[in-house]
Amino acid sequence: MPPSLHAVLGASSAHRWLACTPSARLSEKLTERFGSESSPYAAEGTKAHALAELKVRKAFYDADGMSAAKHSRMSPAQQESYPGINQFRFQSLRDELGDIPKDMEQATDSYCDIVMEKYLSAKETDPSTQLYLEQRLDYSKWVPSGFGTGDCLIVSDSMLEVCDYKHGKGIPVHAVDNPQLRLYGLGAMDRFGKLYDFPAVRMTIIQPRLESVSEETLSREALTQWAEKDVVEKAKMAWAGTGDYVPGEHCQFCAAKAVCAARVSQALQIFQYGLETPGLIPDEQIPGILGMLDDAESWIHDIRTYAENQALRGQVWPGYKLVRGKKPNRRWSDPDEVKAQLLRAGYPSDQFEETKLKPVGEIEKALGKTAFRALVGGLVSQGEGKLILVPADDKRVEFASADVDFQDLLS
Ligand code: SF4
Repeated sequence: MPPSLHAVLGASSAHRWLACTPSARLSEKLTERFGSESSPYAAEGTKAHALAELKVRKAFYDADGMSAAKHSRMSPAQQESYPGINQFRFQSLRDELGDIPKDMEQATDSYCDIVMEKYLSAKETDPSTQLYLEQRLDYSKWVPSGFGTGDCLIVSDSMLEVCDYKHGKGIPVHAVDNPQLRLYGLGAMDRFGKLYDFPAVRMTIIQPRLESVSEETLSREALTQWAEKDVVEKAKMAWAGTGDYVPGEHCQFCAAKAVCAARVSQALQIFQYGLETPGLIPDEQIPGILGMLDDAESWIHDIRTYAENQALRGQVWPGYKLVRGKKPNRRWSDPDEVKAQLLRAGYPSDQFEETKLKPVGEIEKALGKTAFRALVGGLVSQGEGKLILVPADDKRVEFASADVDFQDLLS
């Protein structure tokens, strides 16, 4: 299971403290003051990681042909380091996790299959291949007090592979140039580099809900060079809390994002427009304003959320008070009892129940792509996307028509 301790210069926030070195210490101060916000997504991710780990342990036990008798003949040290667990242990640890949503079940099954395929194929090539799960990886040689947890390591003289499970599906995460994975790779290389002769480290992100497996392989030398050239100096500054504040996309998960002066000043730049002359702002200024909308909108959302959360914790903001907003829609507290009551009263079910098809994506997922295509693929239609204005460097193909339907833009 993942440790509860977090390094100040954690690998998962490395993309942020490498870009904005004072961010780690600033976030730490805020976390000390207000505690860390726990989100349902984080709780879901923790549960999925725990389940994924159990599945791999069970699959390893089975693939290894292990039995209770063989296991009992191992020394205590061997038992301690053995990654597999039997069905009984698997079931009891799995029960502790409670109800598992269907998509978490599927995602962790996929992760387990991919990891086991990698392990078994490495083992076929090199029988000395070992599998390690949930290992503490210490990269403090390059980053002060830096450590993290590697979900799965596959180690042999041919290759060291670090696999990281990503349960989220909101943001695709790629392995190439990924500082989190590279720091894990460094930690793993430091730990196993003297025991094995592997010439390179493969870093793999498995994101099953996006059907994505992304890899980067670097030689030992290249990984060490990256650490020495791109990490060591910045990590020293980040540890000391020095350097420039640099706002950017990496602010998204920074604990300081609502109240960081650098980010506020970047977001407020939008209000420079219109200050100089009365009347209409000239069209030439619109592109500049468009380019600032995302930052401004996102900061406005963050500062509002921060102020509301702090008010809920007892902070008084002069001139403001907490009230209840609009009530949510009414809903049935016991739908089965409602149906029973109405049926008993003689109402036909078509007056209070409706059956409708699930969305296309859900049915496709339930049937699998092949059956979906064969059975109902020809009955799917899809309209055009709404026209939206995006920056010129956006990867999507530009819409080109002499006959733009302006109603589409305006609707
Ligand atoms: S909000 Fe952005 S600019 Fe401010 S400390 Fe965090 S990462 Fe740096």
